[in-house]
Amino acid sequence: MGKELAARKAREVGAEIRQFAEQLRWKVYHGQGYPDWGTFFSEIEELGVQIGDAVCREFVQQAVREQAQADQQCGQEHRCPTCNGPFDSREPEAHPLLTRRGEIGWQEPQAYCPKCRKAFFPSVQEFGDSGGRQL
Ligand SMILES: [Zn+2]
Repeated sequence: MGKELAARKAREVGAEIRQFAEQLRWKVYHGQGYPDWGTFFSEIEELGVQIGDAVCREFVQQAVREQAQADQQCGQEHRCPTCNGPFDSREPEAHPLLTRRGEIGWQEPQAYCPKCRKAFFPSVQEFGDSGGRQL
């Protein structure tokens, strides 16, 4: 998904974002919904940035976790990214990933290629140039 399509999708959920931001604002500002008089703009901004980053991490983590689960259920065949051969599936392990908004993680079965003697996560090749970096 390119940046323009992502921006359009973000605009499509504008009403939900406003509603969620309002809920968060009431929670973090102790039931009055706004910061005390004298609070610096930089403090309000810092809280907004950290909440935004946390929302981003949660969104991405849920999306990739659900994608990995759906992929396992549909039984689509993956190949080793190095030799293109078949691989064995192993028990799920924590799959950490560093995103532009911090570290996320989810449980995913590892794959092991007996020919290359390498373990990897089958979903990683689909990340492509998304900016995600395996930890
Ligand atoms: Zn291989």
